[in-house]
Amino acid sequence: FDDRDGWIWFDGEMVPWRDAKLHVLTHGLHYASGVFEGERAYEGNIFKLREHTDRLIGSGKILGFDIPYSADEIDAACNAVLEKNGFTNAYVRPIAWRGSEMLAVSAQQTKIHLAIAAWAWPNLFGDNRMKGVRLGMAQWRRPAPDTAPTASKAAGLYMIGTLSKHQAEAEGFDDAMMLDYKGDVAEATGANAFFVFNGEVHTPKPVCFLDGITRRTVMKLAKARQMTVVERTIKVEELKDATEVFLAGTAAEVTPVRQIGEHHYTPGQITETLIGDYEALVRMSPEEVARRAA
Ligand code: PMP
Repeated sequence: FDDRDGWIWFDGEMVPWRDAKLHVLTHGLHYASGVFEGERAYEGNIFKLREHTDRLIGSGKILGFDIPYSADEIDAACNAVLEKNGFTNAYVRPIAWRGSEMLAVSAQQTKIHLAIAAWAWPNLFGDNRMKGVRLGMAQWRRPAPDTAPTASKAAGLYMIGTLSKHQAEAEGFDDAMMLDYKGDVAEATGANAFFVFNGEVHTPKPVCFLDGITRRTVMKLAKARQMTVVERTIKVEELKDATEVFLAGTAAEVTPVRQIGEHHYTPGQITETLIGDYEALVRMSPEEVARRAA
């Protein structure tokens, strides 16, 4: 992935993709002092760019650092990366981290770096996703909000995501269904989860995992369709009663789920409607979105 053509925005400059390197004694590598974003550009517009940028800045603050660029500068840099690489539809990955100026758990003197890359990434689950993805049950649980900085999109929180996804893949699944620290349903390793019960759209409260930008968007879309949307604790025992299940995330977009562990589902009308509405919304120009909101 590191040896290819293209440009990466790195601390304010456009650097050739294969030259965007770090020192091995980078604090972010040793102690996971990094935060990142995952954004998607559709037809040249990064969907909800400012929300992603604000979350990136907020994630850094939760880890105790200020990213040395304003939200306007970060937005402009994300757009510049798309333009420099000639992308109109792409995934955009900003990441901020503590540098290699010193290496110890205490790292007050480290410089905060920011890099932004973009690449073509059609969908997290690939072309066949419309028939539904299969989730295995993860062994790792999302930690409690007083155990880890769970509101931050912090690199360190993805350690259990990679472990869970690898375990699921080894068992023949596409992804993992993670429970929270109480043993209730939480989310997949890179997307939030939704369940249809009695025709209503239910989703776990984001108390110890990301309140995804796609999650919030899908909830609005469902309400605009007069669907009942409920945020609540969802027990594992309820998984068998859901009539539809889907995931929502920037990389996953809205993806139907056809299996969680021993339970099987058929993607249905509610999932299809929301996939269509999400597709239409992300491809609208920012002017059209603003006009509709007014
Ligand atoms: N949960 C996790 C663990 C994620 O990595 C993501 C993707 N950023 C999400 C949820 C969904 O967030 P969003 O809709 O903001 O992309």
